[in-house]
Amino acid sequence: MNVRRNRFRTRSALALLAFASLFGSAAQAAPTFQMPFPCGQVWEGQTRTNHSPQNSVDFNRANDEGDTVVAAAAGTVSVVRNLGSTSYGKYVVIDHGGGWSTLYAHLNSYSVSVGQNVAIGKSIGTVGSTGGSTGPHLHFEERLNGAAQKIKFNGAQIAYWGSGSYTSRNSCGGSGGATGTVGTNGTPLNVRSGPGTTYSVVGSLANGAKVTIQCQTTGTSVSGTYGTSNIWNRIGSGRFIPDAYTYTGSDGRVAPNC
Ligand SMILES: [Zn+2]
Repeated sequence: MNVRRNRFRTRSALALLAFASLFGSAAQAAPTFQMPFPCGQVWEGQTRTNHSPQNSVDFNRANDEGDTVVAAAAGTVSVVRNLGSTSYGKYVVIDHGGGWSTLYAHLNSYSVSVGQNVAIGKSIGTVGSTGGSTGPHLHFEERLNGAAQKIKFNGAQIAYWGSGSYTSRNSCGGSGGATGTVGTNGTPLNVRSGPGTTYSVVGSLANGAKVTIQCQTTGTSVSGTYGTSNIWNRIGSGRFIPDAYTYTGSDGRVAPNC
């Protein structure tokens, strides 16, 4: 009796898990990844059939050793590891949710730690030649459930197979940036001219209003719907709202520093 009941429970649990994982992967779209370099930089990207894993890209430019590597999308750092003189050498993995992650390898140095929330465009390390590398370059992967996918930047797939010249649009401002939703107890939220409660009120936003967060900066600490935070979101020229009243889906930063 006990044995049969346990077996039934196990099967039900497995069926539920299988259903949940199918549902989870179907519901999540890929993040819009940007190049892992600061806005405006031009890099040669190379793909090749004998690359491991095959869908990876290697980036080079002149004198690139020590150049800054940045997060391709917002996320949480899941791996910071040094494999010594083999494989990826010093590498970082960022988890973007929905099974998606990005990997940055052969780094000279890293400047993030496991569990850290990073905004898109945040510096995570520098280009190097650690691990199984014969010269400085950045090895980059976009992974779904651990498997490297063909690379897309700003929604467009790069050349497979071969080399191309690519310009980073990572955190360039303009139409980019993160989206958020104003969350209050129903009272309209003051929009301020700067990142603090002492700045003048230049407008107001209704509960539920959608905003585009161009960048984030620190200012007056505010306690609101989403906890206490000193982060302020710039939603336009001379227009700031406290992050404590902005739902972004992340407790950390979601946009570059102002
Ligand atoms: Zn590579």
